[in-house]
Amino acid sequence: MENMKKIQMVDLQSQYLKIKQELDKAIMDVVSSTQFINGPAVKIFADNLATYLNVTAVIPCANGTDALQIAMMALNLQPGDEVILPAFTYVATAEVIALLKLKPILVDVNPKTFLIDTNKIELAITAKTKAIVPVHLFGQCADMETIMSIAKKYNLFVIEDVAQAIGADYTFTDGSKMKAGTIGTIGCTSFFPSKNLGCMGDGGAMFTNDEQIAKRLKMMANHGQSIQYQHDEIGVNSRLDTIQAAILDIKLKHLDEYAKARNIVADFYDEAFKNHPNLLSPVRVKHSTHVFHQYTLQTCGINRDELRKYLAEQNIPSMVYYPIPLHFQKAYSTEQFKEGTLPITENLCKCVISLPISTEMNEEQLSYISSHVLKFCKEHTQEKSN
Ligand SMILES: *Cc1c(COP(=O)(O)O)cnc(C)c1O
Repeated sequence: MENMKKIQMVDLQSQYLKIKQELDKAIMDVVSSTQFINGPAVKIFADNLATYLNVTAVIPCANGTDALQIAMMALNLQPGDEVILPAFTYVATAEVIALLKLKPILVDVNPKTFLIDTNKIELAITAKTKAIVPVHLFGQCADMETIMSIAKKYNLFVIEDVAQAIGADYTFTDGSKMKAGTIGTIGCTSFFPSKNLGCMGDGGAMFTNDEQIAKRLKMMANHGQSIQYQHDEIGVNSRLDTIQAAILDIKLKHLDEYAKARNIVADFYDEAFKNHPNLLSPVRVKHSTHVFHQYTLQTCGINRDELRKYLAEQNIPSMVYYPIPLHFQKAYSTEQFKEGTLPITENLCKCVISLPISTEMNEEQLSYISSHVLKFCKEHTQEKSN
């Protein structure tokens, strides 16, 4: 153990060192060109990503939160419009809805998959509902086929939050496949450094197959102008830096190999925790591949926070995504969603733990982590918990 590589939640350093030469050159090329804003690399990357995703338009922007906000602005959603989203997600999804004075309508998730429970979506639809925002949490796709059919029935937009699942493949019942984020009206992603396709700062993008919507997304991200100095609508300023685009263009070539590496880590953990009474491994859905942005266990009969403390003492980092349900957050609490109204999400926040997962982990680290998790369970099994 003395010489074991330090375990990190995400090992960005090792990933960088593997392709350092190529990345450093791409960065220095932008620096020498001094085309820091909208340099040629931005369009090159957007085109390459569009080809990879098999989508007609990729509109880069400054971050994933902006992508969601611009998407809702481009669809002309109006104050008071209701937008359905899963209760178990990162705050950004709800934040932009509230910021635009739309009404976030939380729907509980499936306890096995962490994804929006499609059986509960229709119950949340009212005359004011305008859009559904499925979140492909932790790296696999929500049940898009069902979501798209509900959207069609009620004439709703679908904005996919694909920040955690870029590269995942969705399979329809007829066997056809589409990339996560390209099925709904608009897909929104983030290139935050720790995401599966991450840059060296902030970045984001929107995808669509609709030419008119693509135009509006571009306009909204660029001060609401379609012609320079002509502002037809109030927009925002949200751009992907040329340096970040140059970095992403290189990392895009490795995205599938990164997903494979993450799956090897996930397979190792699955095997180590198989049929364990205190640990439920992430359930893989049939209709989607998994790109394992996170490897998230559910604990049962042990104290999750004590486990985290024990792991930290062994120099094993862990995280809780997410510790507090959206409807318990001061900024998002409403009369409609009181304690007890979203029981699955409330329970998941108490029992989930995400283990280190990244593209450059070795077997020594994985054995070390899993054996300590198992050791804790053996020594701390409680009669009753959670
Ligand atoms: C990371 C993330 C975002 C926000 O992305 P930023 O680039 O940090 O703004 C939105 N939704 C989900 C599900 C995320 O994981």
